[in-house]
Amino acid sequence: MKQFRSNVIRAGLGALYFTRAHHLLRPIFSGVGAIFMLHHVRPRRDAEFQPNRHLEVAPEFLRAMLTHLRARGIDIITMDEVQQRLAERNFARRFACFTLDDGYRDNRDFALPVMREFDAPFTVYVTSDFAEGSGRLWWIALEVAIARASSVEAEIGGVTVRLDTSTAAAKQAAFHRLHHWLRGLPGEHDVRREISALCARHGVDESAVCRDLCMSWDELKPFADDPLVAIGAHTISHCNLAKQREEIASHEMTVGRARIEEILQRPVLHLAYPYGDKIAAGAREFALARAAGFKTAVTTRPGMIFPESANHLTALPRVSLNGNYQDERILSVLTSGAATAMWNGFRRIDAA
Ligand SMILES: [Zn+2]
Repeated sequence: MKQFRSNVIRAGLGALYFTRAHHLLRPIFSGVGAIFMLHHVRPRRDAEFQPNRHLEVAPEFLRAMLTHLRARGIDIITMDEVQQRLAERNFARRFACFTLDDGYRDNRDFALPVMREFDAPFTVYVTSDFAEGSGRLWWIALEVAIARASSVEAEIGGVTVRLDTSTAAAKQAAFHRLHHWLRGLPGEHDVRREISALCARHGVDESAVCRDLCMSWDELKPFADDPLVAIGAHTISHCNLAKQREEIASHEMTVGRARIEEILQRPVLHLAYPYGDKIAAGAREFALARAAGFKTAVTTRPGMIFPESANHLTALPRVSLNGNYQDERILSVLTSGAATAMWNGFRRIDAA
């Protein structure tokens, strides 16, 4: 399914670019602005097996996007200002907002210097367990385990399955199968159990993954002091909120925020839902975020911001800067809104 979706997006983006249809669609689907979603920002790596590559862009691509936006007179604003412009119905100028999820150290080392070149603000959504150094980034642990193994075993649906991981193509296929299976498991503890077992079998230090990649509280303190940086909440444990009982989902949002506020000594007003797609955040989560007092909450559903988004401030869509499509020709397609409009079947709001 993921591959299918990726192919549709690729074909769609290519078709839009080559037909130049995004220029025709623009007046209808460009919206009033866009919230861009990023994860890692770091130099490209050579490894053939990079199944999480969609979650990272190179600093040059970020710079190209900022140059593109500035050349078109598009304002680059904070999430506070997104909320304010929507509330005041101030759509005189188009806007873009940059958001980075999870709290990776490369955000400080590679994104911040580029954002500084453009004096552009951005929001980093921090998962408090990641900052503690105790979080589980299972999708990366899975990548590390498969990268070093020539075969992996998993018990899928009560049957022990052995997957070949001896070549880059086999590793890719195994990753997709296991990733899909893990996301479908009923509870967070099931994912933890399976990943811990896999890591133990293949000698992967699962807890080191978090410390290697994520900023600690001590690193976040000076980072958050930068005038361009805003810190948002991204729950305590990075769980799939929709799969939790209501009290737990609410606790994840509010206690994750409280930990950041206490340690970084600043109010946290904005939230990003972990995973953020329809199976991780829906109507109940949107209501919980509103009840918890967040000014805005962002999903990973693709879409531009429209005036009607003012009525759905805790279900805001984003435009992914996807590492698989780091081609400068794609920039005008992404800012036109045509790509996300195609993906949404030309609906402007998807907040149910
Ligand atoms: Zn995340």
